[in-house]
Amino acid sequence: MLATITSPSEFIEKFNRKYELVHKAYEDNFWATKMNLQGNSISELSRTKGELDEFLGDAKLLEKVQEFLKQDLSPKERRSLKTFERVFKCYIIQDPKAVEMKKQIDKMEAELEHARNNLKLGYTYKGEFHLASSVLLRTVMSTSDEEEERKAAYAGMRSIGPFVVEKFCEIIKLRNRFAKSCGYECFYDMKVLNAEGFNKKALFKILDDLELKSRPILEKARNLLAERKGKQALEPYNMNYSMAGDITKQLDPYFPFENAVDAWARSFAALGITYANATMNLDLCDRQGKYSNGFCHWPQPAWQSPEGWVPSQTNFTSLATPSAVGSGYTALVTLMHEGGHAAHFANVVQDSPLYSQERAPTSVAYAENQSMFLDSLVGDAAWMARYAYSRDGKVIPWELIEKKKRDQNEYEVFQLRSMLAVPFFERKLYELPEDQVTPENVMRIADEVEMQIQGGLSPRPLLSVPHILSDESSAYYHGYVLAEMSVHQTREHFLKTYGEIVDNPKVGKDLTEYYWKSGNSENFLDLVQGLTKKPLSGDAWIQVLQEDVEGHIKLEKIEYEKAIKAGPKFKAGETVDLKMRVRLVHGDLVISDSATDPKGLSGACSVYKNWVAQLK
Ligand SMILES: [Zn+2]
Repeated sequence: MLATITSPSEFIEKFNRKYELVHKAYEDNFWATKMNLQGNSISELSRTKGELDEFLGDAKLLEKVQEFLKQDLSPKERRSLKTFERVFKCYIIQDPKAVEMKKQIDKMEAELEHARNNLKLGYTYKGEFHLASSVLLRTVMSTSDEEEERKAAYAGMRSIGPFVVEKFCEIIKLRNRFAKSCGYECFYDMKVLNAEGFNKKALFKILDDLELKSRPILEKARNLLAERKGKQALEPYNMNYSMAGDITKQLDPYFPFENAVDAWARSFAALGITYANATMNLDLCDRQGKYSNGFCHWPQPAWQSPEGWVPSQTNFTSLATPSAVGSGYTALVTLMHEGGHAAHFANVVQDSPLYSQERAPTSVAYAENQSMFLDSLVGDAAWMARYAYSRDGKVIPWELIEKKKRDQNEYEVFQLRSMLAVPFFERKLYELPEDQVTPENVMRIADEVEMQIQGGLSPRPLLSVPHILSDESSAYYHGYVLAEMSVHQTREHFLKTYGEIVDNPKVGKDLTEYYWKSGNSENFLDLVQGLTKKPLSGDAWIQVLQEDVEGHIKLEKIEYEKAIKAGPKFKAGETVDLKMRVRLVHGDLVISDSATDPKGLSGACSVYKNWVAQLK
């Protein structure tokens, strides 16, 4: 029993073990139920979830930690106990009045979520109502050749706002009251401070600068789109359609689904990335009964225990349909992304499992920085020339890369401004005086922010962004913006220092040393500055957006030719050692396993290839 232990060092050790135990029990059940494995049990899932929540929410344990902190401690013990306190404070509210308020907020959020899930979303076209999820509505908006249909789909997206706004207003007010009672300026301020370790003011100093510097680029891109496709292309229901091309289809032959695992493994190995003896389960394909969202979780967080190194265990799933056009490209980007998260968490070397788990106090910005940096490589000519090969062994032609860049580069700023609109909107909401938090005002502000930040109404109306509604994901969208800023700053740093990123083992070494080893024990901004020797800013991102297309294409062509000459460091099918056991699974079926295959990972990949081939 932790509560009765009197020695701090014994407490620390048992605490770490207990956390590891409840964390793993829950995550193992999470995987079993979501993958619908034999013998999985919903009641075990909720029992173990309850145990994890109870542990993280144990106010008595927090008090005990705080008691220990008043004693004489070794620096190592103090550090551990401070971390426990920090973790607990992400989950425990000590003031009884605040506890009551939080209960009320949870209840209202659950009601809103329930209502939103049951909303009959869709669009009316040619007198007929079509049920459609928000994902489908957006697909219609970017693919339908009929403007009237796109317009109707957009109206469907706009119908979410009026539906959620009334309850959302009540939630905003309560969240603010709650944050103020805990001593914060507003709810947004509280969330930023808890997640990132710096306040709202510091955050918006960075975001305002990015907004200011990217504004002229936005204007230029909007003018360009209007010039090329006509002024009506700027309407929210026409924008995505007018930019969409057939590039996905043309790229498809060079990204065969069954080769994605091998390409990811070889390119990570060439970057010098290893996984410190971790194990990874990969369940990539869709099937009946499988959970309908992809995810990557870590049942076993890596840590340095008193008995020695404990490697991480990763479960990773996606919903690929190998025969669908574009599935190979998506699978590859997902592998680079989630494989990046996994590399990060596998290489956290600290004396507690709390530093290497994905929940708070690990921030979104810190976590996404790793995965977004690694998936960004797929867009580089230097990467595609080495790894984008068709089934019959032909490398992606330069002309296709050039077309992709010409189609997309000049409009990239739209994505930045669309991301930026969310934190600007949320800041305004939580800064409104309580008596002004009304449905009319909130809907008006949503439109105003879209006009100001995106230059016109957005194809994705702000009130349709699901993140702003639920507690966990509200007031954290800025994390993605910060991560993308850091991705560009990190890329700039490596390119300046080493000249190249793809297939450069120094990159993996630096990521491990500067970004991964510390886990969440260090502040994200400090980590970025530690590697790049500069405070985090949007300058590197702005520079990429400002780059002239012709100049960029010229440079990329040189990179393409260089990469063709050099070839990938590890050839297709060659054995690489990621210091990881990779199990390729499909529900209960283990398709291949690098630990038992005589040819290791490359053997496991070729068995998987054959398995995919027989699916068709
Ligand atoms: Zn991610």
